Amino acid sequence: MFVQPGSHCSINITRQHKVRLRGKPALLLAVCLLSGFLASCGRFAVEGYMSRDNDTAGYNEMNEDPETTYGLNDPVEISYPEHEPTDTPEPEHQQGQEVTPDTEGINTPEPSVTAMPSETPEPEVTPDPAPTSAPAPKPSSTHDPKTAVTPAPTAPPETLKGAVNPYVPYTYDQMREDCLELEALYPDIISLDTAGRSVEGRDLTLIKLGKGDKKIILCGSHHAREYISSTYLMKMTEEYAKAYYGSGSFGNYDVRNILDQICIYIVPMVNPDGVNLVINGIEAVGDKEAVTAMAMLRNTYREWKANINGVDLNRQYPAEWEKKYDEVGRPASESFKGESSATEPEVKAMMELSKANVFILAASFHTKGNVIYWADRATVDLIPGVKDLAKRLSKLTKYSLMPVSEDPRIYAAGYENWFRLEFLRPAFCIELTPYNNTDVPHNDKKFDDLVWKNAKYIGLFLAEEAINNSWGL
Ligand SMILES: [Zn+2]
Repeated sequence: MFVQPGSHCSINITRQHKVRLRGKPALLLAVCLLSGFLASCGRFAVEGYMSRDNDTAGYNEMNEDPETTYGLNDPVEISYPEHEPTDTPEPEHQQGQEVTPDTEGINTPEPSVTAMPSETPEPEVTPDPAPTSAPAPKPSSTHDPKTAVTPAPTAPPETLKGAVNPYVPYTYDQMREDCLELEALYPDIISLDTAGRSVEGRDLTLIKLGKGDKKIILCGSHHAREYISSTYLMKMTEEYAKAYYGSGSFGNYDVRNILDQICIYIVPMVNPDGVNLVINGIEAVGDKEAVTAMAMLRNTYREWKANINGVDLNRQYPAEWEKKYDEVGRPASESFKGESSATEPEVKAMMELSKANVFILAASFHTKGNVIYWADRATVDLIPGVKDLAKRLSKLTKYSLMPVSEDPRIYAAGYENWFRLEFLRPAFCIELTPYNNTDVPHNDKKFDDLVWKNAKYIGLFLAEEAINNSWGL
């Protein structure tokens, strides 16, 4: 078994791990740790295909997120919103590292790790805009003897109550249902459209949020197991629309003013067939035989990343696709870049949508790592102002900026790479959620802490930036 670098996604070696890895005896451990780190979103793939017989698929049986301290069916005992420590500290600024591929392609078990220069701004205190969601109930006052005896229970994650429930595995059907409900609730500001159809015929739902002529595009779940990015975009849609109808503001953002000037195009689930496999298991797939014949690079379908044709959708775009490294070479649970670029209907749909509209900028949401990929070598010098924009985004989210992606064997063929190359305008790949040393989806019950608290303003931030700087448009 050997490891090879794959496509972009989170890479972060914390100082804590560096300390552990000093000294020759730690070399093997270093490789193992790197493999774990980089496996999250596809930096690495394993050549020795694991047996699909290991798959047990059922969600309730597969709640193996190590962050989890309770089962899905257990009573909610979350000390919400208290932050629980994660296994891995959040990526530290100036700790970003990029793994360069083995130039021989095979037989090299150790990736060469190259320390990359910092792209992150100096730490600054960012005033956190005032929360707009209802505060959690406070413990009862001790002045009241009746309530003082029985303190109020710890609040469950109810601060984001609404049409969209972000605390459950977010299925395609739920996404569709919620879209219709949101459109009915907020018709002035939300309309639904479609970007196309998936391999299995699911709708690639497009949400148009806003009234303005200017446009930006946000998308989620290119990678199936990262479906919490769909949850995030749906919750974002609801919260912004609710704010537009309500107070008109969200945090420090003037939602009404922003959404009157811009329309945010949102494709919350680019890979609905893959998400369906991850959440509902192999029995829910149309062509089970075809899927079970594909290479499994992880143990379970919960860790599936590709579309249902076994093609990694974020290695499919015609942006230096030929240079993109492909360590698997055939349909697989992840990492297969396809026989040629843009063969998959989901990729074609995203390309057509992006060409048919003039999007000032784009953001594609993934997990895990709490980092931002903002530039690649092919285009970094051709998009003025993108570095400053990325720094502001980093400051807003507390996510680290990754170095400019230098090697097309690693970064090529992602949606963001294609968007930059095609339009010479900013496109970000944003890795929501902290790294947690697994490839299974996050515990959805911890959505607020894992995703929302850092990411809730990104849509409005990008919209406002697009209003203020149109990149020549
Ligand atoms: Zn990803």
